[in-house]
Amino acid sequence: MSDAQDAIAVLTRIAQEPRAYAENWKRNHQRKVIGTFPMNFPVELVHAAGALPVVVQDDRAPITLGRTLMYEFYCGYARSLTDQAATRKLGVFDAFFLVDHCVALLGAVDAIRFELPEQAVFLAQYTASMDEAWTPPQVREKVQSLQSQLEELCGESISKEALARSIRLFNRNRQLLRQVYDLRRSGRTQITSAQMQMLVKSSMVMDIEEHTAMVSGLLASLQAQSDSNPALVRLHLSGHFCHGPRPELLDIIESCGAVVVDDDLFTGFRHISTDVAETGDPLDALTRWYFDRNNNVPCATRAQKNVDWESYLLQSLKNSGAAGVVILMAKFCEPHMLYYPELRKALLGSQVPHLLIETEHEGLPAESIRVRMEAFLEQIRRPANAAAA
Ligand code: SF4
Repeated sequence: MSDAQDAIAVLTRIAQEPRAYAENWKRNHQRKVIGTFPMNFPVELVHAAGALPVVVQDDRAPITLGRTLMYEFYCGYARSLTDQAATRKLGVFDAFFLVDHCVALLGAVDAIRFELPEQAVFLAQYTASMDEAWTPPQVREKVQSLQSQLEELCGESISKEALARSIRLFNRNRQLLRQVYDLRRSGRTQITSAQMQMLVKSSMVMDIEEHTAMVSGLLASLQAQSDSNPALVRLHLSGHFCHGPRPELLDIIESCGAVVVDDDLFTGFRHISTDVAETGDPLDALTRWYFDRNNNVPCATRAQKNVDWESYLLQSLKNSGAAGVVILMAKFCEPHMLYYPELRKALLGSQVPHLLIETEHEGLPAESIRVRMEAFLEQIRRPANAAAA
């Protein structure tokens, strides 16, 4: 096994067992572990308070007790969070912090509050309409209030210097992961889509300095790799908020003769797209980050007049040279379902082939997806027939 494969294997194990990593970290550091939820919470605040921020992940276990708390027509991530609370899997977390972005997540948070009354949940609701004059001051107030709640919980004040340091550490981590993305776009590395997901997912759950050290070493090995196979169809993966699609699904997509060169998944480029400003007041910078990130990678849960996801997607395809898009949509993800017609219209209008695959928390119709993928790739290889699948 190469150095790169070794490093990826270690990060994959941690990404797949985040609670075990958090328990170990807590034992070794005797400090709090804070569970955070996607997609807008500024984790730098938790780090500056001396605690470990861990983005609570989807659990692969089938939903059992959680069924009594949440309807089947909520997304798999919200139902999995509920089930993890009901089956007492979230004990490592001293508290939970989130910035709300969707009604399904609010439902899961209510279920967590009901099931785990001893573990505090702190919720901030940022204004979703990005263009209003009052939105930045409102968001700034919420960021300040999150800081105060963390200070009270952790029993120490967060200095500007500590917060500025945390911002620099997380920026450095994001920058390294973006370098991996650049290598992948340029075809100078053979990292698979499932491996890329593990790199980002591990950054969501690990001590950030430890993760950065590992990714730095990994980058050196990746840069020494040879070119990828030019016969493979270059694809962009789009969608899938809040949690990563199953690695087996990503493997099927690539095993049909494709290479994924870019994505806008949350457990992917969306999460690491944007740095926080390192100058000026750190709370102002964390406020600005909320707006900057939507400018860079627009989100279907935010409303902003001068940016949209479809324009971003078309531009990304130009940058990466991807020949088609696979849209991965978590079943019952309302923001994505509502936005999909806009994406479809733009992709059809620009004659970009795309395939929509809906994913479920339980079950993966592997053979049917394989057949659809093979047909999709065949369409791309025969441009005269290219159209939305
Ligand atoms: S954005 Fe989608 S995946 Fe995330 S909590 Fe809401 S419905 Fe679920």
